[in-house]
Amino acid sequence: SSWTAAEIRTAFIDFFKSNQHEFYPPSSVIPDKGSGTFFTNAGMNQFKPIFLGATLPDTRLSSIKRAVNSQKCIRLSGKHNDLEDVGLDTTHHTFFEMLGNWSFGDYFKKEAMQMAWTLMTEVYKIPADRLYVTYFGGEPSLSLPADIECKELWLEIGVDASRVLPGAMKDNFWEMGDTGPCGPCSEIHYDFVGERNASHLVNADHPDVVELWNLVFMQYNRLGTNEIGLLPRQHIDTGMGLERLVSVLQNKRSNYDTDLFKPIIDTISKCAQCGSYTGSMSLSTDISYRIVADHARMMCISIADGIMPANQGLDGLSMKLRQIMYRMFRHQRVSLGSAMSSSMLVEPVVEILGDTFPELQDNYQLIKSIVKGEEEEYYERVSDAYTVFSSYVQKYPNKQMLSEEDVNILKNMSSSLDLASELVAEVAADYGLTIPASTTDTNKELSVHSTKYDNSKLASKFLSRVERACIPSTNDSFKYNLTLSEDGTYN
Ligand code: ATP
Ligand code: MG
Ligand code: MG
Ligand code: MG
Repeated sequence: SSWTAAEIRTAFIDFFKSNQHEFYPPSSVIPDKGSGTFFTNAGMNQFKPIFLGATLPDTRLSSIKRAVNSQKCIRLSGKHNDLEDVGLDTTHHTFFEMLGNWSFGDYFKKEAMQMAWTLMTEVYKIPADRLYVTYFGGEPSLSLPADIECKELWLEIGVDASRVLPGAMKDNFWEMGDTGPCGPCSEIHYDFVGERNASHLVNADHPDVVELWNLVFMQYNRLGTNEIGLLPRQHIDTGMGLERLVSVLQNKRSNYDTDLFKPIIDTISKCAQCGSYTGSMSLSTDISYRIVADHARMMCISIADGIMPANQGLDGLSMKLRQIMYRMFRHQRVSLGSAMSSSMLVEPVVEILGDTFPELQDNYQLIKSIVKGEEEEYYERVSDAYTVFSSYVQKYPNKQMLSEEDVNILKNMSSSLDLASELVAEVAADYGLTIPASTTDTNKELSVHSTKYDNSKLASKFLSRVERACIPSTNDSFKYNLTLSEDGTYN
């Protein structure tokens, strides 16, 4: 009895509809101005004014008491930046869907917890002995008390006492950003293994025990570092990662093995020269498969919502999209050795998500052509940078770390490129070289280079690929006369 992702999403929405919730459409990944987040990072973002007690321009919103939807979220900055984990684990994505239900000054803890437990154990039929729940343990420095009420409610609902665990601020006090609505929360975690006490693995970033759902009891408003005020009313705000829930219900240990990702991975593997995806956590090629599949979704969703990859625009969102796309092209070409255009990945993404987010279908051709244009430009520019860089580095074969001067020379050499310093950092890593901290971008938020990812072996692969893929012109300077053929590969 396997659920499809579509059935799982629908069951969530239908369950809350049958509990008097109204389906309220998800918002764009471009947040409202002044919302305090970079991309939309949670289902509650569009409801923030309601939590703060503001008068709303949307009359439908001002009369709504209970809402449900599946929200497009992207976590690439600030309090919620998951880029460094993407591909290295199987549960954090740049783009993901957050299933959510809300009470605006209506029901509170007890009902929210009861409904969540009923949905998990009776509708999705997840065995109770695979679940752990948490409650906020208090934070004296902010005079925030432990949420003993929450603990007792879980026991009343029937959760075994050994499965009700306290948590600190980091995990059990949810905040959208540096300021704004916030509150203690209670989370539901799933144990993939069972048959042992795994309570010590909860919130330990352990792949065996994964956080599924967060129920936030919105009652505070963060005003500053040491200052927290009360909201005018109490609200419920919940968020459950659809991709993680689907992996549980489809009995897969990895989100990438579910029907939300499998067709994308299969498409990537058609043209990869490194062999197919094996699901390994350590093989650099498998990491790249996951990164490419993840970034392809983020790219399609972003473009469909009106973000163009560019060096500026939309308060940095355009730049971030370009960085993610460059990173995706690089993993696809360099690590996987694929000559396939990334525009070929648009099709499976739209196929999988288009019914839920019709803006993907409406903009299908546009997304494809933007991806094609962006990657052609990228391929020229980055190939140049690699060539320039490799000849420079070859002069000093014994170097482990580049000097500040080296870095500046390289930056200047590639200063005609967008994201020159990004490239220096990424290309250096490909050669197994470190660069002095003083030369890295002060704006760490914009750095897309994952320090956890050791890709030192990629350089030689990349160079052979460049040689194969490009046609040197007569004057010996590299020119990449690539033409995209009908089947989506480059000649
Ligand atoms: P984690 O501790 O795993 O990073 P979180 O506590 O940061 O998750 P919340 O802010 O509580 O996440 O978001 C609610 C739910 O959204 C989580 O319980 C999880 O199921 C899901 N989620 C959060 N971040 C991601 C992500 N990057 N990719 C996929 N799902 C996510
Ligand atoms: Mg997180
Ligand atoms: Mg967490
Ligand atoms: Mg959480």
